[in-house]
Amino acid sequence: MALSTERLGLFNPEKPMENRLTDLGPRHFWQYFPPIIQNNYGKWKYHEILEPGVLVHVSETGDKVFTVRCGGCRFMTVEHVREICDIADKHCDGYVRFTTRNNIEFMVDSQDKMEALKKDLASRKHVSGSFKFPIGGTGAGLTNIVHTQGYIHCHTPATDASSMVKAVLDELFDYFQGMTFPAQVRISMACCLNMCGAVHCSDIALLGYHRKPPIIDHEVIDKVCEIPLVIAACPTAAISPSKTEEGGKTVKIKEERCMFCGNCYTMCMAVPLTDKEGDCVTIMAGGKVSNRISPPKFSKVVVPGVPNNFPRYPEVCEAVKKIIEAYAANANKYERIGDWAERIGWERFFEKCGLPFTEHLIDDYRLAYDTYRTTSLFKYTDAAWAVSKVVEG
Ligand code: SF4
Ligand code: SF4
Repeated sequence: MALSTERLGLFNPEKPMENRLTDLGPRHFWQYFPPIIQNNYGKWKYHEILEPGVLVHVSETGDKVFTVRCGGCRFMTVEHVREICDIADKHCDGYVRFTTRNNIEFMVDSQDKMEALKKDLASRKHVSGSFKFPIGGTGAGLTNIVHTQGYIHCHTPATDASSMVKAVLDELFDYFQGMTFPAQVRISMACCLNMCGAVHCSDIALLGYHRKPPIIDHEVIDKVCEIPLVIAACPTAAISPSKTEEGGKTVKIKEERCMFCGNCYTMCMAVPLTDKEGDCVTIMAGGKVSNRISPPKFSKVVVPGVPNNFPRYPEVCEAVKKIIEAYAANANKYERIGDWAERIGWERFFEKCGLPFTEHLIDDYRLAYDTYRTTSLFKYTDAAWAVSKVVEG
């Protein structure tokens, strides 16, 4: 087949842009800005949070933009998206935006429009009576919880994502609609340790956790899977070829090498690892991305092995509430959960939150040297003294 010399022409190094197709990829963001944002681009003087969920940005031209932020859900029905578009058409000349934490932001250019918008949003409810567009998630409050696909859409979850997030946010809804914390609190949720939800750097992170290696379906594995592919998929080389008693091809798994990542199941449905009893939820705390006051931090495991009690996860909700309430009552203004824990000492963090410290919480990752605490300072708490007394220290 010859190269086209007609529609696209030949590449001319002297004029590299000639005949070039430039409409690939996303369209330029400028055309999606509301006119007031376009007119005041680069001229914003300051912004304020007028009340939880409502911001005003003031321009040096005197223009003001009022933003109403509503918690959005990660999975939206077409009907729900249509309703969002209807609201945007009715109040915001068709413009709407989403934040990285799945919030929906409606922007208007006057206080009157903002009040009408707020009233409209508050009046829209699900049949169960809950808000379709709850206003909040700003400042020193609880931001919308981001999460991964869960049972709805992924094949390796150790727990569900949407239902857990709904259960936890139902418990903490007042914090979403208020700004009563010392600083903002971000909760994230990922339903397996592949963590496509990036929960490693949130104030509180909920993580679905497999604890048992995959079960091999010897009868079908040879028929439905490429065995070399399954073997190659394992990052710890735990899988090797094997034979069934009848002489059929299969695999075997060295269980002590398995880290329950589910990669093999991604390649082959005959090695499922979901397990009703084995799967659990792990709660981490103290992570953040922000550079304010202290550098970004990874979250640390604070509650391992919480039962995977679908669909309302009472044990998860209780543990999260304990951390949130202890933080709200004890931290200094502007301190994130990790900053607070480091100031008072992680020993005391566990006491304040009423969480037991167990050997499962000791970081024994082989590359963890950088994160070990190497200072000689130790915060003596009641629990620490108890240990000291036992060993006659
Ligand atoms: Fe799938 Fe794991 Fe991502 Fe959940 S966290 S959606 S199970 S890859
Ligand atoms: Fe290997 Fe992960 Fe499968 Fe375990 S779950 S056998 S570590 S690929």
